[in-house]
Parts: sequence; C-alpha cells; structure tokens
Amino acid sequence: MTPTLAESAALLLPELVALRRSVHEEPEIGLDLPLTQAKVLAALEGLGLEVSVGEKLSSVTAVLRGGRPGPAVLLRGDMDALPVQETSGLAFASRVAGAMHACGHDLHVAGLVGAARLLVERREELAGSVVFMFQPGEEGCGGAKIMIDEGLLEAAGTEVVAAYGIHVTSGLLPGGVVSGRPGAAMAAADTLHVTMRGRGGHGSAPHAALDPVPALCEAVIALQTMVTRRFDAFDPVVVTVGHIHGGTINNVIPDDAAFEATIRTFSAEARDRAEEETLRIVRGVAAAHGLEVEARYERLYPVTRNDETEAAFAARTVRELLGEERFRPMPQPLAGAEDFSYVCERVPSAYFFLGACPPDRDPATAPYNHSPEAFFDDSVLADGAALLAALAMGRLARA
Ligand SMILES: [Zn+2]
Repeated sequence: MTPTLAESAALLLPELVALRRSVHEEPEIGLDLPLTQAKVLAALEGLGLEVSVGEKLSSVTAVLRGGRPGPAVLLRGDMDALPVQETSGLAFASRVAGAMHACGHDLHVAGLVGAARLLVERREELAGSVVFMFQPGEEGCGGAKIMIDEGLLEAAGTEVVAAYGIHVTSGLLPGGVVSGRPGAAMAAADTLHVTMRGRGGHGSAPHAALDPVPALCEAVIALQTMVTRRFDAFDPVVVTVGHIHGGTINNVIPDDAAFEATIRTFSAEARDRAEEETLRIVRGVAAAHGLEVEARYERLYPVTRNDETEAAFAARTVRELLGEERFRPMPQPLAGAEDFSYVCERVPSAYFFLGACPPDRDPATAPYNHSPEAFFDDSVLADGAALLAALAMGRLARA
C-alpha cells in the first residue's frame, strides 16, 4: 500500500532535522549564501530535478516534471539569516559570531527539501510541474524580486498558476498549528526620509537663524494626526518615526534636522495614499516655516496578499492533512513585511504561518522571531514538508 504523505514525511524527519541543524550552525546573511546553497544542491542531488542557480544571488530553482501533463505551481522557502548574536545555548547554535537563523528560515530550507523529496516519490501522480524556490535575501534585500526578474515564475516553461509559502513562528501559535487568512496576510513596509533645511545660529538668538528643529517636530506630530484623520480605521496605517537627528549641542541651532519613519499599510490603496499624504504634510509644514525640505518616500516590500480561492484551498488542505484542530483562522494580518509579496502580486498565492513553539513554552510569551532567544521546534518539519507537498499536489489535481 502506498504510504500517506504524513507517513512518508515522518520517515524523512530525521534527515530534515539534520539538514535544518546544519544550516542553523552556519547561518549566512543577505543575497550571497554559498554554504547554504551548496547544502541545498547536495540535498537535491540525484532526485532528477532540473536545477538552476541565480546570477545576482545564490538562489536555487528546481523544477520537478510530473508524470502527467498540466500547469506549474511554485513552492517557496527563504534561506537567509539575521545579524543577531544567538543566545539560545543549543548544541547546534550558530557558530558564526553575529549571525543567527532567528527567523526560522533554516526550517524553511529543510521543509522545502522535504516537500521536493515527497513529491519526487509521487512524481507519476503529479499532473504538471512544481517549481521549488530556494531564496536568499528575504530580510530586507528583496531576493524574491531578483529571482522573479531572473525568470523564476517561468522556470517550468510556462508561468506558474499558483504559489505557496509557509513561515514558521517561534511564538504566537502553539506548535504544529497552521494559521492563515484570505486578503492581506502581512503589511507593506515603506520608509519616509525627511530632511528640513534652515540656517544655523546661536541658541540665544533664534530670530537671527532659521531653526529646523521645531518644524521637524511639528511634522512628526502631524503625521500621527494624519493617521487618525485621513485614513479609514478599518484599513489601518502604522507610522513610526524611529530615527530622528538634528544638531550637536544645546546652544547651537543646526542648519538641518532629519527623521526617518517606517510606514505600514495593508492595501495598495492605503499605500498609494500614504505616499501622497505624508509627502504633502512634511512639505507643507516645512513651507509654513520657510524651510527647505527634502522628502523621499521609499517603497520597500508590498502587501503580502493572499488570493481568496488559494487561501480557502490552503485552509482546506491543512484541515484534511493535519486535522480540523490544527487550522486556526488568522483574525488579522501581521504588521511585519515579507518579500513573498512580489510573488503574490504576480500569481494567485497563499502564505500561511506554522507554529514551531516548543511544548514547554507559552506561545503568548515565547521569544518571537528575530529574538536572539527565539527557539523553533524542528519536529514540525515533517508536517511543514507534507503540507507544501499536499498544496502542490492538490492544486495540480484541481487544474
Ligand atoms: Zn522570516
């Protein structure tokens, strides 16, 4: 009798755990991850996949051709670590000073390898192709965008018809619970850069200078007023001025003063309006005080938006594969950002979260992703791999 996906995945678990821990011990940051790439290539060796590597980044794209004709779907795993000094004390803790897999992307690497192994075993049943996306540079480098530019979505010869990704969390969800929602799953994250220029002078004689500091402070407050007065409370905007700088000493008025804000939105409409409104406000406040201003709205990752049909399909797949109690509808999006959003913009997608909180920690208080103490329980890898495989098989079967 053919084993079920869950049974096959359980057999793979020790190998996936070993791969995950090897990647965890040697974390790499950014777009260039040669060691991680080599580990992925070694793990895919001999599976009969069409493997290619990136030009501008150390990505791996692998294509599995099913035994029957059909369209192509994409499964994604990001591979990069963070500039964090690990304090977990684990036997397989990072051996690289100042680098740690604090966001669990090491589990994503192993999970996607596991999905590839499971699907290769079922190649004859597959009605179409599966593209495996091993991606560097999720943390701020936009690796997904570069992979798309290098032909990722057409790697199988035709553009993929759907894409799926899973992100593990060290807190928030109990271990093994999967959560997702239709529509916005994560925010767009943009940066507003503002410098106001006046004329410096002696702090005792501000009338003889043109002080940029009070005007800059006024703009910071005006942005908070903008959030409540110019945006729908049900399509929220988060504005945080996290960096502000002006002057050197108490009695000298500086020539200029500057701030930077992160701006999070959950719809393309709110994002467009946030750009327009923030620029108008800071320019207007500067003009009101006779200052020159340099204001730039830098668009970073877009909204990670789940397609309604694909999100419903993914939720159904979780319930069927893992059981009713293992799916938890996600009440609202997360305000973090994710560059899988570039894939979601192009292809109907579903991006879900998988709890990897260990049983001895409370998900509500466990150190969360990006913490130097974050701990991801890799026993969830079998379920993660089986889920990705089930999404690909199910989607191709319904094509
Ligand atoms: Zn992450």
